[in-house]
Amino acid sequence: MLGSGIIKGMVETARNFVGSYIDENRLVTVEYPEERLPLKEASRNFPFLVYDGDDAAKGLRCVACQICEKECPPQCIYIIKDTAKKPDYIGKMQLQPKVFDIDLSVCMSCQICVEVCPFEAIKMDTEYELSTSDRFEGLLLHKEDLWKSNQYYHKIHPTEAAEVDARLAEEKAKAEAKAKADAEAKAKAAAEARAKAAVPVPAPTPSPTPQPVKTA
Ligand code: SF4
Ligand code: SF4
Repeated sequence: MLGSGIIKGMVETARNFVGSYIDENRLVTVEYPEERLPLKEASRNFPFLVYDGDDAAKGLRCVACQICEKECPPQCIYIIKDTAKKPDYIGKMQLQPKVFDIDLSVCMSCQICVEVCPFEAIKMDTEYELSTSDRFEGLLLHKEDLWKSNQYYHKIHPTEAAEVDARLAEEKAKAEAKAKADAEAKAKAAAEARAKAAVPVPAPTPSPTPQPVKTA
């Protein structure tokens, strides 16, 4: 029947409206901003940069590879590489971002930057109260506005953050085992080379003394 969907919707609204006086679960709205609904773990709004430890500048996971900058559909990430290097989570020396900006007014919360990042360095925040009256500088978030601790990441996305930590720990253990095996192989090769160099060279056999030729 034409319009049956609208009638069903209105009946549902009426049931919730009347029902909300006797059952709190039917009350689907809250008086925002005094009241807020708890956010779902999978909710997302805007990216942030994860750092490990207590020092944001030192612990920033981002290595300024610029993959997210290239892949961001509306091109709202802007990165300048620093010249100094610092060790990443497996101890490999990597660059770091000197500038890392995201334009909040352009970001469409697609999460592609998160999906392409090979270093688990950028994640989606659940913070949604980001409006400001400053249309320009206020909407351009810099590295210092974007960095947040791994503890914060655990607080907003506990399941995902635990999986990431486990994966990073596994990769770190693998890298350490490989470095140890490489060092052992190198030491063994050096010991073999030293042993080879120490083998005494046999003295040359003296050639027979030439005999005088007898003449008739
Ligand atoms: S969420 Fe999407 S639009 Fe926003 S910075 Fe990441 S890739 Fe760009
Ligand atoms: S956030 Fe990830 S993908 Fe983007 S520059 Fe940093 S390490 Fe590369």
